[in-house]
Amino acid sequence: MATPHDKVFFGNGIVDAQDAKLGVATSAVLYGLSVYTVFPVHGSSTTRTAFRLPDHYQRLVESCKIIGIDTFASEWTYERFVDAVREVVAVNDPQDEVYVRATVHVDESIPGTRVRGLHTTVSIFLYDAAPIVPQDGMRLKTSVWRRIPDNAIPSRAKVNGAYVNSVLAKQDAIDSGFDDCIFLDINGHVCELSAANIFLVRNGVLITPDATNDILDGINRRTILTLAGEEGIEVQERTVDLTELYIADEVFVSGTSAGVAPVHEIDGRAVGSRETGPMTAVLRERHQAVLAGDRTHGWVTML
Ligand code: PMP
Repeated sequence: MATPHDKVFFGNGIVDAQDAKLGVATSAVLYGLSVYTVFPVHGSSTTRTAFRLPDHYQRLVESCKIIGIDTFASEWTYERFVDAVREVVAVNDPQDEVYVRATVHVDESIPGTRVRGLHTTVSIFLYDAAPIVPQDGMRLKTSVWRRIPDNAIPSRAKVNGAYVNSVLAKQDAIDSGFDDCIFLDINGHVCELSAANIFLVRNGVLITPDATNDILDGINRRTILTLAGEEGIEVQERTVDLTELYIADEVFVSGTSAGVAPVHEIDGRAVGSRETGPMTAVLRERHQAVLAGDRTHGWVTML
């Protein structure tokens, strides 16, 4: 299990990890009323880069807006956010890749089930980067749990409380001997994994559920779509049936903590010949290059 590095940005500055605490009566604890993002930081003290930081900040702002957390946007700017990230990374001085989790917590005590005007505290901590799914061919199971629809708890907002849905589905997959789940929406169409987006390849076309299919609009998903376009690959963002996954030539997933990782089996059916397909391999290699700091897209921020 990953542990946070020693120093955490909490509130207005750096504190020891054991002092970065929320009260038991706060909305964050009572209702899971926090929004967050996770992004990777590469390199060591001389050259350190964060991947697509403006996009992660923007998604945090948009998550707040959807949920109605209005104090974050009035108190924070992108510049202040980058300074806080720089500070917490510098003080911990990680020597390997880390994931950085930035969260906006609604930390007012017992305000009841409402959100506007409530006090927020930002936390930013680092932990060692370790993928949450196997990188050499994972086995997936269609979940017995459906993805929460946009008109219940929006998947587009990365809100902590909604992750109970992911916990249920991932645990069900693990209990059944699989690596992760495939979430379907309430109509039975494919959404995503517990914490990664999904892609399939059929007859040379790259297909992924579109952003209105109750998915998180993943930043690595967007990255893959851009890289695929550059490779001249035809891309379709559209509704996907489960049975399309069963007959796909290749299936892979994307996410900050999942990487770009191949799927070799779904519901007991082999994907292709249970080997990582050529399109997965190309996109995975391109993805790893941009994560490692390939400057051509302007996706890296020097820390
Ligand atoms: N879907 C869900 C539900 C997730 O939690 C994540 C991880 N943030 C993703 C997809 C992938 O998003 P990203 O590429 O921004 O990490």
